[in-house]
Amino acid sequence: MKRFDFDVAVIGGGSGGYAAARTAAGAGLKTVVIEGGAEVGGLCILRGCMPTKALLYAAEVKHLAEHAETWGVRAGKVSFDFAKVMARKNAQIKDFADYRVRQLNAGKFKFIRASAKFLDAHTVELTTPRPASGHPLPIRWGEGRREGRARNLTARHFVIATGSRVAPAPLPQLHDAGFITSDDALALKKLPKSLIILGGGAIACEFAQFFARFGVKVTLIQRSEHILKEFDADAGTEIEKVFRREGMKVFTGTKLLDAKRDGKLKTVSFEQNGKTVSVSAEEILFALGRIPNTASLDLEKAGVKTENGRVVANNRMQTSTPHIFAAGDCTGPHEIVHIAVTQGEIAAHNIAQPKSPRKMDHRLLISIVFTDPQVAFVGLTEKEAAARKIPFLKASYPFNDHGKSLIMEAKDGFVKLLANPKTGEILGGSCVGPVGGELIHEIVAAIAGRMTVRELAAMPHYHPTLAEIWTYPAEELAEKIKTE
Ligand SMILES: Cc1cc2nc3c(=O)[nH]c(=O)nc-3n(C[C@H](O)[C@H](O)[C@H](O)COP(=O)(O)OP(=O)(O)OC[C@H]3O[C@@H](n4cnc5c(N)ncnc54)[C@H](O)[C@@H]3O)c2cc1C
Repeated sequence: MKRFDFDVAVIGGGSGGYAAARTAAGAGLKTVVIEGGAEVGGLCILRGCMPTKALLYAAEVKHLAEHAETWGVRAGKVSFDFAKVMARKNAQIKDFADYRVRQLNAGKFKFIRASAKFLDAHTVELTTPRPASGHPLPIRWGEGRREGRARNLTARHFVIATGSRVAPAPLPQLHDAGFITSDDALALKKLPKSLIILGGGAIACEFAQFFARFGVKVTLIQRSEHILKEFDADAGTEIEKVFRREGMKVFTGTKLLDAKRDGKLKTVSFEQNGKTVSVSAEEILFALGRIPNTASLDLEKAGVKTENGRVVANNRMQTSTPHIFAAGDCTGPHEIVHIAVTQGEIAAHNIAQPKSPRKMDHRLLISIVFTDPQVAFVGLTEKEAAARKIPFLKASYPFNDHGKSLIMEAKDGFVKLLANPKTGEILGGSCVGPVGGELIHEIVAAIAGRMTVRELAAMPHYHPTLAEIWTYPAEELAEKIKTE
């Protein structure tokens, strides 16, 4: 039998890659993680979930302090020190990244700092990364091998977990005008006075509210009819209302036409309702999405198929080359951390236990946007149900008529449940509201356990809590289903 250097080689040491390596090593397989980034930690820790949420929480604290009078509390004139806001975020990110570095180096598997690309279906070529200092990092694997040189590594199985990168700009003029990405926004030393945000997805909306609450004049330009287009229109409409109330300009249903630099200002022109509109600001934040980070892997040499750069994998996370698996943003279809982790675990499990394979189950798809109010759904949205022709009954309840949210002066938003019209099984839940990202987890549990609306309505809910708001749509649906 052919001998390989490793049973499993995981390419990429982010959330998906680490989960795959931990699982493979735990199953007794000789495993290596190959990480080619200049920094170790992965997107979630370094430039994704964690730094953005640290900044958004700071913005929420500031916002609450500014509105403290509502509860009879005098906070005086609220001011802030942007350098300190960023320093706290940076310190937290360093702690999280240091922890991940310790996990990767804990000795359960080999950890190599190098970029990998395929030479054939069982071999990758490793090249040492060249960090800003210019000194190539040593490849700490393989005795007697010289540092700083490309070398090959063989494995019986691979897990590709190379993540995503910012999508190319749709207009060449944007490059002439200049723009920042989410990575740059997280490293700003100084706030711009005004900012145009291109895009209306989670990343765009979270940054929009962060900057607006720190005094930046924000203009958000979205191509679709509503922001947050993966959610139902009621969710996008509610957040647009809040954003406009907080002073942002929000343009939806647009088509980008042009971008240029006018002295110190940058101008973006777009079409809306048949008219050309131009807006100017000090900076442009490009938040029009990310693409799979697969171009440099030479996947064709390993026979791994891609579609628009995305590694094609089945629900067992197996690619077109059966001994090569994939996990995380490089395969999708959702760019969400817990999905990357589950995919990594499933890939490694299926390598270790091919006779009892596990499959990805997207029935419990969760999506959360950490604006204030937060926006969340689990399972089916109305949009998805309509597209897949799944019959459902729905009921909603607003936070402006609920005891606990009135106490908190958190009156924006609603909860919504979708249920099977015959059995009452809960098919989906949405929440736009205070701590909506936490509240949705009650419905995650309910759907996981295949609960009906009747069972949810009968479940005890402590009073007065935000969570008891779910009982209203649950009762309404239970009543409807009884009488139909
Ligand atoms: C601003 C922002 C906010 C976000 N907020 C959230 C959130 O709140 N919640 C949520 O669930 N998700 C969020 N996400 C998405 C989330 O961060 C990603 O889905 C997740 O981190 C993807 O993990 P991954 O393992 O697939 O990729 P990554 O963590 O990107 O890991 C890929 C790794 O592969 C390495 N690599 C790439 N090519 C090679 C190569 N050829 N050789 C060796 N190594 C290579 C890279 O250096 C990288 O470390 C956010 C993303 C962004 C950008």
